[in-house]
Amino acid sequence: MTLPLRPDLAGLTPYGAPQLSVKARLNVNENPYAPPSVVVDAITTAVRKACVELNRYPDRDAVGLRTDLARYLAVESHADFLRADNVWAANGSNEVMLHLHQAFGGPGRKVLSFAPTYSMYPEYARDTLTEYVTLPRRDDFTLDVDAAAAAIAEIQPVMVLVASPNNPTGTALPLSEAAALCRAAAEVPGGCLVVVDEAYAEFRHRGVPSALSLMPEHWNLVVSRTMSKAFALAGGRLGYLAATPEVIDALQIVRLPYHLSEITQATARSALAHHRDLQAQVDEIRAERDDTVAWLRAQGFTVADTDANFALFGPFEDRKKVFEGLLERGVLIRVTGPEGWLRVSIGTAQEMALFRSALLEVVA
Ligand code: PMP
Repeated sequence: MTLPLRPDLAGLTPYGAPQLSVKARLNVNENPYAPPSVVVDAITTAVRKACVELNRYPDRDAVGLRTDLARYLAVESHADFLRADNVWAANGSNEVMLHLHQAFGGPGRKVLSFAPTYSMYPEYARDTLTEYVTLPRRDDFTLDVDAAAAAIAEIQPVMVLVASPNNPTGTALPLSEAAALCRAAAEVPGGCLVVVDEAYAEFRHRGVPSALSLMPEHWNLVVSRTMSKAFALAGGRLGYLAATPEVIDALQIVRLPYHLSEITQATARSALAHHRDLQAQVDEIRAERDDTVAWLRAQGFTVADTDANFALFGPFEDRKKVFEGLLERGVLIRVTGPEGWLRVSIGTAQEMALFRSALLEVVA
């Protein structure tokens, strides 16, 4: 049978990393800790309550959840100017990003990002028939903001996408640079949004501010977040963003009706109510991250500065061989980033001890 597949999708494989049952799963930047039992209990109780009304469609506008998310951002990032109508939520920040592309991208339109970066960005663009353009990051993975501003003026994108901390490098975007991107984007005649993807924001070092603090001065800024990492809720699928109410209105047009199930909304709200209980795990991961980076550097590896729950390290002449050697020892990491580099997600102290001993054996 001939399938009428879009020609540009022919021969492509679906995005995804291996899901293997090994001792240390350090390849997709998950939180290595299960949600604490107080959170599991709260979710279970809320979901049970929601089940009684599963014959009804969920709250289509997820107002309670969006209110809770705004309150969380007010506490976490001092963004006390946000209300429910500044917040949008969907099934993972992947879906939030897709909504942005559906509403603002499309044929004849361009998005600009900075490579190396999250490998789903070209896929959101491809799926919405938007052109994806990249500028290279500097050798230390920071942005050349002057070159970025010049490219924005020349290319006139509808959106500029910057992950901060960036995946796979861990690089945080300084506030002054985010502001410079917003100023350059504001000059694009047809309008241009700057989307700062803060999926890993909670892991940033103390004193590194969120781009959210720029929002009152920059109407064209969008900040995306997720509950997949800091909230230990990757399996719950809840991502969100903060923006002006006008941006949120545009996203409402392209979302499917009832896209967030009542189970998802109940789960996310229960986890949000316990964000302080989850903070201890985030603190442990940050400490383990700093220890891992220090250890790798002490062994003579180069490690990109990281504000995330992972580290990009190298260089390796044959990174595939190192990846396979680690896997043989029960440690699954990721072959990603520029040639010669590998990325390891930060696991528990025990998992990182296994990673360290396996790596020493592999490179011996
Ligand atoms: N943005 C970045 C930079 C990511 O690394 C990820 C997950 N790996 C996401 C967005 C998507 O996460 P989720 O859909 O689970 O919220």
